[in-house]
Formats: sequence, structure tokens, C-alpha cells
Amino acid sequence: MKSDWEGRYYCKKCGATLLIPPWEEKACKYRGSNVYPFPEEYYKYTLADLDKVKTDLREKYVKTSPEYNPRSAQFREKTQARGRAKRAAMDAAKAAGKTSSPSGPPKVECPYCHSTSTKKISTLSKAAHTYMFGIFSMSRNSKNFHCNKCGADF
Ligand SMILES: [Zn+2]
Ligand SMILES: [Zn+2]
Repeated sequence: MKSDWEGRYYCKKCGATLLIPPWEEKACKYRGSNVYPFPEEYYKYTLADLDKVKTDLREKYVKTSPEYNPRSAQFREKTQARGRAKRAAMDAAKAAGKTSSPSGPPKVECPYCHSTSTKKISTLSKAAHTYMFGIFSMSRNSKNFHCNKCGADF
């Protein structure tokens, strides 16, 4: 599908494939060199074939180009590998963070009725309350929790 490949460019120097929005400069982010739109022969493919198309494109259009520079390609591959490693590390950290606190924030008990059906009063709702009730609500602003059962703030 042609629309799948619109906005996609490739760099003949390093073999990078880039998705560039129309308002952005058409240049390779790795080496600042010229980029070219994907050749029409790939319009028959969809993005599901992206990896296949990239490989084919590099063999047929990049490596045969006089602009091709293997060292630039190596530089791009290294930069991409670093980016992938960083993302993988971040995902792993996120996953680890999730498993260590599966139950969310601890429950706060209401001092009046001892219900644990309480919620934290958000800064936003405090600000809205101050806006509506002005100075008289100042005392409420020192309260951080609201009891859903007896309606007390504490
Ligand atoms: Zn490039
Ligand atoms: Zn209560």
C-alpha cells in the first residue's frame, strides 16, 4: 500500500530508514546526509513486511549506491543497538518496579469511623476547592485524605 510508505525515507550513505513528518527537514539523523523516498517497487508491500523491505532496500539500493559508506552504516548500527539496549533496560526496570509494589499505595484508615474506604485529596481538587470557597477552605487544605464512608477530611 502506497500510504504505508509515505513519509518513509532511506539514507544511501548509512542505510538508515526513517519516518520523517512533512514539516521536518529531510535528512538522515545519523549523518545529516540526503535521504530518498522509498522506491515505488515497495508500494505493493505493507508495513508488516517492513523488516523484509528494509533488508531488500539496503542490498539493492544502498549498498550499490556510490554514496554508500560502510563506516556510516556501522555507526548507525551501533547507535541503533545502543538505543535498543537502553529501551530494553528501561522496560526491565519498569517491569521490576511493577512486581515490587503490586497492590498500589497503602490504605489509609479514617480516624473517625475507621473505614479504609478513603482517598487521597489531589492537589488539583484542593486548588479547585480553594478557588470556589476562597479563604474559608484554607483549613481543608491541610487535610490530605477524604473518607468515603463518613465524609470526613483528615
Ligand atoms: Zn544516513
Ligand atoms: Zn470516616
